Amino acid sequence: MEKIVSKEILHKKIKEHKKKGKTISLVPTMGNLHDGHIFIVKKAREESDIVIVSIFVNPIQFGKGEDYKIYPRTIDKDLDKLKNICDYVFVPKEEDVYEKSSKDINVAEDNIAKTLCGKFRKTHFKGVLKIVLKLFNICIPDFAYFGLKDYQQYFLIKKMTKEFNLNIDIKPVSIYRDKDGLATSSRNSYLDKEQRKKALKISESLNLIKDKIKSSNEKSAEKLKKIVLSKLIPNLDVQYIEAVNKTNFEKTKTVDSNTLFLISCFCDNVRLIDNLEV
Ligand code: AMP
Repeated sequence: MEKIVSKEILHKKIKEHKKKGKTISLVPTMGNLHDGHIFIVKKAREESDIVIVSIFVNPIQFGKGEDYKIYPRTIDKDLDKLKNICDYVFVPKEEDVYEKSSKDINVAEDNIAKTLCGKFRKTHFKGVLKIVLKLFNICIPDFAYFGLKDYQQYFLIKKMTKEFNLNIDIKPVSIYRDKDGLATSSRNSYLDKEQRKKALKISESLNLIKDKIKSSNEKSAEKLKKIVLSKLIPNLDVQYIEAVNKTNFEKTKTVDSNTLFLISCFCDNVRLIDNLEV
């Protein structure tokens, strides 16, 4: 594994690999790596010759008052975890990623980017799409891996890739959970013991949906959302719970095999997201 800071050096190395017919995978992350990230990297390792993991805490995907400044930066530990499972760790400097003159050039997001997480984090997906497009152009991967914990993000990136004919295969990776059911997240490190207990209600409530559909064939998305809400409140401050069709992100009234339930809530001041594919 080699740590690379310069985008030019990385780009050159990748081009050489490509000339030799090697397949390239990219796993974009913001670091503070947990088992969910490692699961993705190992998957990429199995499916391609060269694996690049990027670590960059992307300032423009954080809104005002969000946790950009305190976001955990654990680069030495991260590099240690990646030591034997990838080829390159790309750790660019902020000034190298964003030139001042490029501030106003963005990928225009569609309406879906303004719903769900985008409704509460107004500039989030604009920032995500910009950094991902930049990483794609630097790393010219054949495959790029995204976790389904951030389902809306995966959906938008897949859409952008198709829209701009980027010729990259976007690979979804299922949600990785700790033994107790909590989806792993860099932000889980903000939780103390009591908060973590409360946070478990999220996955428990999603399991309730599954049980209810199985046991009583409940198909009403509204009714299922209400059941979930009663489990989450008063432990957590719910930002949204929604049911959508995962192929187009339109709201769902009657549950079918394409239904995706998504939740965002605050556990005190820690924002957590999770979802369930029915
Ligand atoms: P982040 O470092 O939070 O930006 O995440 C980097 C990538 O890891 C994104 O594609 C996330 O969707 C993915 N990811 C983070 N947590 C999980 C998880 N628990 N299960 C699956 N993918 C995840």
